[in-house]
Amino acid sequence: MSPSSPTQSNAPHGLATHEVVLLLETDQHRGLTDKQVAERLARFGHNILPPPRGVGMLRRILRQFHHPLIYVLLAAGAITAALAEYIDSSVIFGVVVVNALVGFIQESKAEAALEGLRSMARTRARVVRDGRERTVASENLVPGDLVLLEAGDKVPADLRLIRLTEFRVNESALTGESVPVAKDGAVLPTTVPVADRHNMAYSGTLVTSGSGAGIVVATGAETELGEIHRLVGAAETLDTPLTQQLARFSRILTVGILGLAAVTFAVGLLRGQDAAGTFTAAIALAVGAIPEGLPAAVTITLAIGVGRMARRRAVVRRLPAVETLGSTTVICSDKTGTLTENQMTVRTVWTPDGGVEVTGSGYRPEGTLLGDDGTPIDTTDPTGLGAALRWSLLAGAACNDASLSERDGHWDIVGDPTEGAMLVVGAKAGFTPDRVAELLPRQATIPFSSERQYMATLHRDAMTTPAPQAPSSADHVVLAKGAVERVLDLCAGQLSDGTVSPLDRAEVLRAADDLAGKGLRVLATAMRPVTARDEFGDDSLPGTMVLTGLQAMLDPPRAAAAAAVAACHTAGISVRMITGDHAATATAIAGKVGLLDAAGEPPVLGRRRAGRVLTGTDLAELPAEELPDAVERATVFARVSPELKLRLVEALQSRGHVVAMTGDGVNDAPALRQAAIGVAMGRSGTEVAKDAADMVLTDDDFATIEAAVEEGRGVFDNLTKFITWTLPTNIGEGLVILAAIVFGAALPILPTQILWINMTTAVALGLMLAFEPKEAGIMARPPRDPGQPLLTRALVMRILLVSSLLVGGSWWLFEWELAHGANLAEARTAALNLFVMVEAFYLFSCRSLTRSAWRIGLFSNRWITVGATAQAIGQLAITYLPAMNTVFGTAPIGGGVWLRILAISGVAALVVAIDKRLRR
Ligand code: ATP
Repeated sequence: MSPSSPTQSNAPHGLATHEVVLLLETDQHRGLTDKQVAERLARFGHNILPPPRGVGMLRRILRQFHHPLIYVLLAAGAITAALAEYIDSSVIFGVVVVNALVGFIQESKAEAALEGLRSMARTRARVVRDGRERTVASENLVPGDLVLLEAGDKVPADLRLIRLTEFRVNESALTGESVPVAKDGAVLPTTVPVADRHNMAYSGTLVTSGSGAGIVVATGAETELGEIHRLVGAAETLDTPLTQQLARFSRILTVGILGLAAVTFAVGLLRGQDAAGTFTAAIALAVGAIPEGLPAAVTITLAIGVGRMARRRAVVRRLPAVETLGSTTVICSDKTGTLTENQMTVRTVWTPDGGVEVTGSGYRPEGTLLGDDGTPIDTTDPTGLGAALRWSLLAGAACNDASLSERDGHWDIVGDPTEGAMLVVGAKAGFTPDRVAELLPRQATIPFSSERQYMATLHRDAMTTPAPQAPSSADHVVLAKGAVERVLDLCAGQLSDGTVSPLDRAEVLRAADDLAGKGLRVLATAMRPVTARDEFGDDSLPGTMVLTGLQAMLDPPRAAAAAAVAACHTAGISVRMITGDHAATATAIAGKVGLLDAAGEPPVLGRRRAGRVLTGTDLAELPAEELPDAVERATVFARVSPELKLRLVEALQSRGHVVAMTGDGVNDAPALRQAAIGVAMGRSGTEVAKDAADMVLTDDDFATIEAAVEEGRGVFDNLTKFITWTLPTNIGEGLVILAAIVFGAALPILPTQILWINMTTAVALGLMLAFEPKEAGIMARPPRDPGQPLLTRALVMRILLVSSLLVGGSWWLFEWELAHGANLAEARTAALNLFVMVEAFYLFSCRSLTRSAWRIGLFSNRWITVGATAQAIGQLAITYLPAMNTVFGTAPIGGGVWLRILAISGVAALVVAIDKRLRR
């Protein structure tokens, strides 16, 4: 524990709060001063974990040599050196070094991209400093800081807890135990193990319920989490199922090809061929045929995709999500804040005595309340309002945790927008937050939760006009607001004409349905005069209160939502709305964003017309076996609790869907984890939700999910393109060598030349496909079946076709040149250039898997133009520079040869184009 280090005797869990405060020279109410913070920051450093061990520069470079192909090359280099073939051996060693460098640079770039994302995901913490509450970046916390926590927060440092209410923490990050642990502040023996320290909260764990405060006792590497990091040195891997699959594929291939090379060598020897030559040929076979660059290329393509998504405000937290996004078949989206703006304004207040319309816009507390006859109600005189209206506005404003703020004439709220709207309408009627706090000082609270669906507060009644039908002893009042059905359950009567009459539930529900049908979010308000001794709790409220009114607020759909929904439909992705809101409100909003058409019917997806709206109650009543069917048919799920979300995901998954699910609350975490793509809200979401998610939207906007899906599809396309492009080279090179040995002919391409082709084309040509822009119409095709292999039959056929063209073409050209007076070096140079030229032409074809190279515009990816130019310069160099001639065994060739090379490459390109066209 800092300032002095932790020892058994001053371990914070063994000390009383005041001892901790004394030791850390802090104040348990006012926190540290700014001066103390600055000093401690300089002394203890930032609250961040040191980069994981084991990724040091040297180790990373060395890791590049840990690859079967490199071992083969090293052995080949050593043997050629022993055979005194010094040029060959230096080329081989040179390639090994260049290869390692390229791998190292690629890996560093990919890691830097991911690291950038990690820093975007850094959390903020609420602290008290100098007696004032403020929000700071978690990395600026210092020992002694007083941190405030509530459900949904991630614990930002190791804390000794003080002042707790129903505080529970999920410590699975630390202990692996996922059941939340209840915390209390009691002093413990120092010997108690970490998992049982109920007065401590550890960095990286998640607050699942309640609220509390704690004093920072350790930061950064000194925390328990830092300790674990030190022990494990856990570097986050760049692995995804796809890269693993490809790595496995290349390992198996490597072993197979090495076996084949060994057999070739043996056959050559048996046939009495020269040992050194046969050996070189066997090495050439191995080097040419093993697709060594594949896993690295995949990683870098994924990393580039992650960067693109981040620029479109979708931060990917787990790399595999990039792959899965392209296969998404269903997006389950929250309504409030994702499909809508979450900018609430109360438009109508309904009371049993009649309704009022409210004017004004945004959170500016200026506007008029207009009565039924269109005349303004005098808002400056609160007593002049009808009793029901007055008490509805008071309940909305007093039973409320939001606050209003003004800066440079711009009004905003802090807290929940639903509450902000109720605060504003109260203020428009003269019940400003300050005045309400004076009239009705709050004594106790039952907080809002998505399960409870209402909030209630107990106040001392300091109003001048007595509450309706209050017994003379009643000096307190209970206020409540929440979902209409829930608040109705709390009520026995309703307030009309200033007196309490029996509740007309049907009438209230009718009024609520009317308002909700217009897409307004409706909350009911209620009150009850009580005495200080009356019970106040969840169990004592039902059936005791008086309904005062309904407040209906407008939350406009997001501008881009409708277009994004339409784009998803075109892309064969169905969109479902999952909301805690009323079915009628949800249906109206669903209609506005195009989830349901004007008649209230969902749009046709595929051949089936889906069902419509299901509520949480419907879902609960459905027999388990009917659930998947019903869920698949419905589009809007209203009054759904977070627990139900998990069942919805499971039901959709049982139908083979790849589900993306949004969420923001603590209780959304299980559903986010279960979904193939858990999507958390970056702005309004809790840390718990973000922690469980695969992707975080920094703008909370539905349209961003659609953008991410589009990028995901693009990444997958580019991966497929790279693989389709690279494999024919490997197969072609392998086959050429194999054929030469089998037929006992001279090698058309030497091992060093093969190394040249593989090294240069992979970097200058292949890698540029990762920068390929998305194809037009990428969102006009159905989602990719996740079970579908990376290479479809058509692509496999194309790869084989190009391989045969490469083998046939280069063999024919090699023999033709020899037969027409060229020497071996010249004929080989011709074959080498043909190989590269065919690959370059084929690269342009691979830029689209289906459309022709001409259609996408030859120069629309400038990286490819740059790469192709660099490759051309390289080819001229290896053909004409004497030094390179010596090293690579090449020789200058004449214009006629180039024409033949061009002609053959042109024919090959034409064949590929025809194949594409026929398959289209
Ligand atoms: P979504 O799931 O689309 O984000 P939501 O925000 O409406 O929908 P919840 O926050 O679970 O979902 O709210 C459920 C219901 O509880 C709301 O429809 C509303 O009637 C009521 N409610 C929402 N916020 C409050 C609040 N602060 N106090 C009281 N009741 C509330």
